[in-house]
Amino acid sequence: MTVPQATYSETDFFTYLCDQCSTPFCERVHILNLVLSYVDDEYCLNCLVSMQPGASGSIDGPQTPVSTETWVSQMLTYVMARDCFKTPWESFETAACPGKPIHQCFCG
Ligand SMILES: [Zn+2]
Ligand SMILES: [Zn+2]
Repeated sequence: MTVPQATYSETDFFTYLCDQCSTPFCERVHILNLVLSYVDDEYCLNCLVSMQPGASGSIDGPQTPVSTETWVSQMLTYVMARDCFKTPWESFETAACPGKPIHQCFCG
């Protein structure tokens, strides 16, 4: 985890920062990192999507790039099927999340 920078006025809210681009992200994106077994390094929504198989630049070769919407819906199916992810996902207070206006999470 990197040291938070005062780029966003909401910095105090975010517990996590992307290890690739330093974008802050909220609990829900953190849960997706756990689903993907990213523990030591964690990534924001945009970086997570760009790293998935099928995305441009993937080692799996040319494929149709996965859209954020498609990927998120797949991940949500996974999260909702497992109580260990579903419980913290649903208990997170989305109304307070500053990621909503900057489109960095699913809180909306
Ligand atoms: Zn990032
Ligand atoms: Zn959020």
